[in-house]
Amino acid sequence: MKNIDAVTERALQYRWAPFTRTRYVEQHGLLSIVRGEGAKVYDANGREYVDAHASLWLVNVGYGRQEIVDAVHRQMQKLPWFSCFEGYTNLPSIDLAEKLVGMLKPEGMDKVFFSGGGSEAVETALKIVRQYWKLRGKPEKYKIVSRNRAYHGVTFGGLSATGMPANRTMFEPLLPGFLHAPCPDPYLREVDAPDDRFALACAQALERVIESEDPRSVAAIIVEPVQGAGGVIIPPDGYLRALREIATRHDVLLVFDEVITGFGRTGEMFGARCFDVRPDIMTFAKGITSGYLPLGATAVSRNVFETFYENEQKGAFRHGNTYSGHPAACAAALANLDIIEREDLAGNARKIGARLLEGLRTLSKHEIVGFVDGVGLLARVQLVRDRKTRALFAPELGVADRVARRVRELGVIMRPLPNDALSFSPPLCLTALEADTIVAAVDRSIGEVAGTV
Ligand code: PLP
Repeated sequence: MKNIDAVTERALQYRWAPFTRTRYVEQHGLLSIVRGEGAKVYDANGREYVDAHASLWLVNVGYGRQEIVDAVHRQMQKLPWFSCFEGYTNLPSIDLAEKLVGMLKPEGMDKVFFSGGGSEAVETALKIVRQYWKLRGKPEKYKIVSRNRAYHGVTFGGLSATGMPANRTMFEPLLPGFLHAPCPDPYLREVDAPDDRFALACAQALERVIESEDPRSVAAIIVEPVQGAGGVIIPPDGYLRALREIATRHDVLLVFDEVITGFGRTGEMFGARCFDVRPDIMTFAKGITSGYLPLGATAVSRNVFETFYENEQKGAFRHGNTYSGHPAACAAALANLDIIEREDLAGNARKIGARLLEGLRTLSKHEIVGFVDGVGLLARVQLVRDRKTRALFAPELGVADRVARRVRELGVIMRPLPNDALSFSPPLCLTALEADTIVAAVDRSIGEVAGTV
């Protein structure tokens, strides 16, 4: 074991960390971040980093926002907690639901159900979908269609929809009734079609999954507007609109998992708006509080809610987490959303995102950069062994991980994803100078690593 400081030693002794190989920590140690301000964070030695990934894609307003801290403090002093179950409520959860329904008017969302995070928000959506069809007298409609390389969380429902084998295999058998269609990655293609027909061909591939299963058995399509953890996959133009048409044609609900794309990330307030689609159900977490406290939310259209309301005698929605509508988390969300709107952070994501993407595109000068893409402040630099064939490096080489570790030595935190995609998802308050710092560090790191592979 090298690089092991006292913090890493204690962590290794006592704590089991999420999504982490213990041997990786033994080899490389842990970086403990102790403070943050804007888009920058600081380690225990006072060293500064630009956080080009907003930690896990979520600190949309940036670090050190005193007004969120104050809002939580006030709420905690007044009432730290009271449930929203069975005829009781706290007030912040109603304030936040009202706020969200207002923000989601263009998307046609009518009611919001709260939970503790993204996986629970997705689980809630999946259970709403199943009950919706039972209440409408079509219990045979229970299958859920998602895509390869999708990430929808870690609980059994979301995991069954997830399309990343590495996350799934060890927990099989997963839930029955989950189907996976091809991923619409425009670079690492699963669907063979000329560029001008690619979007439609991907949508048709998903429709074939529905048709081959019998549309009468399919309840919903669930998609991330931009696939995040699967590789920052921005769908080709028109693909998501085609999914909307397919869902309507086959009487299937369309669920947008906006856990990453919600609240300004794409340069619009929501991914649905960015891609001009009105889904039936939307899931949120992460940017809803920018991580200041944990919170998940599932929003539904009027049609979905009214189906439950009008058929309540057949069974209420018997679902809810203890912390559904936690008042302190809702207070954090309200203060956070206020900042996002007041500072037009979606607009900043568009503006600075364009600059970041322009800078990242220059990295194509490196032979091992095969593809660069982005929307708002969400971007991908795809590394490849061979540009002509688009062949990837052997996973055991850990090329993207090596780039990311070198980038960190240069003062920038970003994230390597499976298939050697470098992922960028910084706070939406990122400055032009910070965008340039990110590009310079990645440029240098790729140049150095490219010379060794
Ligand atoms: N859905 C999407 C699209 C996500 O990216 C994530 C997490 O990254 C989740 C769901 C799960 O959220 P959580 O980790 O808060 O449970």
